[in-house]
Amino acid sequence: MAIAGLGACDDRLVVVGGGLAGCEAAWQAARRGVDVTLYEMRPERRSPAHTGDALAELVCSNSLRADRFANAVGLLKEEMRRLGSLILEAADVTRVPAGRALAVDRRAFSAEITERIETHPRIELRREPVDEIPSAPQAILATGPLTSAELTRALQKLLGDEHLYFYDAIAPTVYGDSIDPTVAFSASRWEDGPGDYLNLPLSEEEYRAFVAALSAADTVPLHAFEAALYFEGCLPVEEMARRGLDTLAYGPLKPVGLVDPRSGRRPHAVVQLRREDREGVLYNLVGFQTKLRVGEQRRVFGALPGLSKAVFARFGSVHRNTYVNAPRRLTPSLEVACRPGLRLAGQMAGVEGYVESAALGLLAGVHAARALRGRPPLLPDPQTAHGALMRHLTAGDPAHFQPSNITYGLFPPLEGDGRRIRKREKQERLAVRALDALEAWRPAWDEDVA
Ligand SMILES: Cc1cc2nc3c(=O)[nH]c(=O)nc-3n(C[C@H](O)[C@H](O)[C@H](O)COP(=O)(O)OP(=O)(O)OC[C@H]3O[C@@H](n4cnc5c(N)ncnc54)[C@H](O)[C@@H]3O)c2cc1C
Repeated sequence: MAIAGLGACDDRLVVVGGGLAGCEAAWQAARRGVDVTLYEMRPERRSPAHTGDALAELVCSNSLRADRFANAVGLLKEEMRRLGSLILEAADVTRVPAGRALAVDRRAFSAEITERIETHPRIELRREPVDEIPSAPQAILATGPLTSAELTRALQKLLGDEHLYFYDAIAPTVYGDSIDPTVAFSASRWEDGPGDYLNLPLSEEEYRAFVAALSAADTVPLHAFEAALYFEGCLPVEEMARRGLDTLAYGPLKPVGLVDPRSGRRPHAVVQLRREDREGVLYNLVGFQTKLRVGEQRRVFGALPGLSKAVFARFGSVHRNTYVNAPRRLTPSLEVACRPGLRLAGQMAGVEGYVESAALGLLAGVHAARALRGRPPLLPDPQTAHGALMRHLTAGDPAHFQPSNITYGLFPPLEGDGRRIRKREKQERLAVRALDALEAWRPAWDEDVA
């Protein structure tokens, strides 16, 4: 049922979308003593990527990416932990072994969040689609990259703007027991011991044959205007193959840091498979996001060494991604400039990735809670990872705005003594600076937490 108006009493926050950002936003507001109504359209309606009814469903990979500070997403996660993030708490209790990454048992992760939201005394969960912009004085839209068509239209009308789209593709998963154990070896890159990934080694000849088959395979056609809009950070594997023979060998099939224990040598190329669940029932073909037709995925990926008997649990696919031009439309507290009190959070606000989406939910939830108490927004220090994300959304060039993952490139530069410093040292210094800034800012952040 679509709800008209969605007005709520003045001191109640309305959050639309029970995904990563919406759950985090509702949780942050509720723990500051605000009553929240959280709307989720499932099970009545489902996006093309969501398959279950649990909140905060991870629609593709089960990885929340690197857990170390060498990658800015590791820093962002640490900040979220320190700020009391629900998504990070749930991830930490449901994690599965994945080398240097934080990967989770996807069912346990969503079940944990669903339970915490459903049992919170200040959160009312309503399983209903929302087709209009809420009229409540404080509301957050966090309906994600696959926002329902009805709400997308309402948003378009409100913003008086063309929405921007790009296309992402998701990677297939296969059953672990259908992977040939005489071919696959288990190892994590750069680490000794058995490791958390399964690796399929390819000789130069096998690699060449794979690239040729992939480049020639049949894909789901896109409209011409869509083709130019691929997100560069998440190119379909066949698109990478078409860019040159070596592209994959330097990308997702890179063999560096891996030694095949049978030959004692580094293979020419390696296909990595990452565990999707604690038990190792399902494995994700890392970096194999694709728009190949289903039959072609079975044929081309099934021809890889070790996958001739692979049983696919899920095939890769293409999806639409909806987001707004944040530098043009949003204020530094994630408010829609032309509609005070309405905030956007999550991927639709202009970030990419599970963690980044949840981080914006965290900020939006706190901004809304403060607004309901008549307090000004508490903006994150620009030196923190949260501040760097907001910098991208507010200071980016509106003419070329694209959603982004968190990277160290989004942080304000270090004040230097003119000396050139190595990448590793620079990242370490940015991380230390960010956490110092976060600690200085945190007391104000925690002020209202019940
Ligand atoms: C197919 C696909 C694969 C992706 N793969 C990855 C990946 O592997 N790794 C990664 O880091 N990121 C990935 N992303 C990007 C992104 O990080 C995730 O989509 C992330 O879940 C976004 O979080 P969110 O909270 O903004 O949206 P979501 O988690 O999608 O949550 C939005 C919620 O809003 C609900 N909703 C939508 N419309 C309405 C409505 N009108 N009324 C009520 N409820 C509504 C939806 O049912 C959903 O529960 C992927 C995105 C897609 C689409």
